[in-house]
Amino acid sequence: TVEKRTAGDRNEGVKYKDIGGLSGQLSRIREMIELPLRFPQAFLRLGVEPPKGVLLYGPPGTGKTVIAKAVANETEAWFTHISGPEIIGKYYGESEQRLRQVFEEAQAHAPSIIFIDEIDAIAPKREEMGGEKQVERRVVAQLLALMDGLQARGQIVVIAATNLPNSIDPALRRPGRFDREVPVPIPDRKGREEILQIHTRGMPLARDVDLSRIAEVTHGFVGADLEVLAKEAAMAALRGIMPSMDFEDPQVPYDRLRTMEIDMKNFSS
Ligand code: ATP
Repeated sequence: TVEKRTAGDRNEGVKYKDIGGLSGQLSRIREMIELPLRFPQAFLRLGVEPPKGVLLYGPPGTGKTVIAKAVANETEAWFTHISGPEIIGKYYGESEQRLRQVFEEAQAHAPSIIFIDEIDAIAPKREEMGGEKQVERRVVAQLLALMDGLQARGQIVVIAATNLPNSIDPALRRPGRFDREVPVPIPDRKGREEILQIHTRGMPLARDVDLSRIAEVTHGFVGADLEVLAKEAAMAALRGIMPSMDFEDPQVPYDRLRTMEIDMKNFSS
């Protein structure tokens, strides 16, 4: 049902085609998550246990969240999003209860994807937890219990994301838990060009805009940065035809808007 697909957090309609520069990662993830979600019988027949948990790791803004959302959208799985810091900020006992509630909801709506962003916040290595880390200790234990309790049928997959894979409790990375890991790196030149193409798809770019040139000079930019770059260029073009931007009484020059072009000259020189 529609309700089933849209429940959970902001579930924008992002699809695989909206993700650039990560085709290798996407194939692996599709094989690990999408196949078992769609054809659980095949995996049962093969005697292969699909993963319950997949850990995506890489720098901020590289697309970990969009990957998780895209898998949910493409498979029409129910999607729920929680963040480590959000869980840990609860009062005594509430963190575990919230986790249990998330897993129960996912079970009720299966097939489901549970996305845990910044999992390092709830799962720092247990040996590093002093007395004041009681909350984290309990939350890790609860998460482990919930993951162990999931039936290995591929109908509920927990995707976790982190920038700090090495600061996660190793117990979470054992078999039957987050036992698959997929690095989500900073994009290379070709990846940046793909991402720029995606984020300028609907924009009236000037004819001489050369996205491959922009990709070349944006070394170190991640997907989130490239998205901002495209939006900034669009806003600059708009400012060009509406210099005053009087919000009380905007004079929108519709004729110029029709012929407006985005030149991106700050980035292609
Ligand atoms: P964080 O660790 O900060 O949560 P993240 O890796 O989850 O970061 P996202 O939230 O997925 O990053 O990315 C932020 C935004 O940047 C996305 O909404 C998307 O529009 C854009 N973006 C990031 N990576 C890509 C990509 N590979 N292709 C297309 N767009 C991307």
